[in-house]
Amino acid sequence: MPGLLIRKEIAMALKIFEDCVACGACEPVCPNQAISEGDPLYVIDPEKCTECVGFYDEPQCVPVCPVDCIHPDPGYRETKEELLQKKERLQAS
Ligand code: SF4
Ligand code: SF4
Repeated sequence: MPGLLIRKEIAMALKIFEDCVACGACEPVCPNQAISEGDPLYVIDPEKCTECVGFYDEPQCVPVCPVDCIHPDPGYRETKEELLQKKERLQAS
């Protein structure tokens, strides 16, 4: 099914939405240190979020969030290849 193929190839950085209760559970599980405490919500730096590509098969922050407020950010569409390149750039810096 072509539509399914496109969805699998296009990924996005993740974003924390307004239901965040600032519990802090997501911050330590991020392999890219992309999550930080904001005011009032925690925030994900889209320049550092790779959807955990290169580290894990699935985003690590999503399952630890008690209010399910971490979702793809439609403003940051990236392919898996671009996410992998981002991860390599981050590791080199
Ligand atoms: S998806 Fe992975 S890299 Fe992105 S913020 Fe969550 S834990 Fe960090
Ligand atoms: S785990 Fe969810 S509720 Fe807790 S700080 Fe992270 S985004 Fe906010």
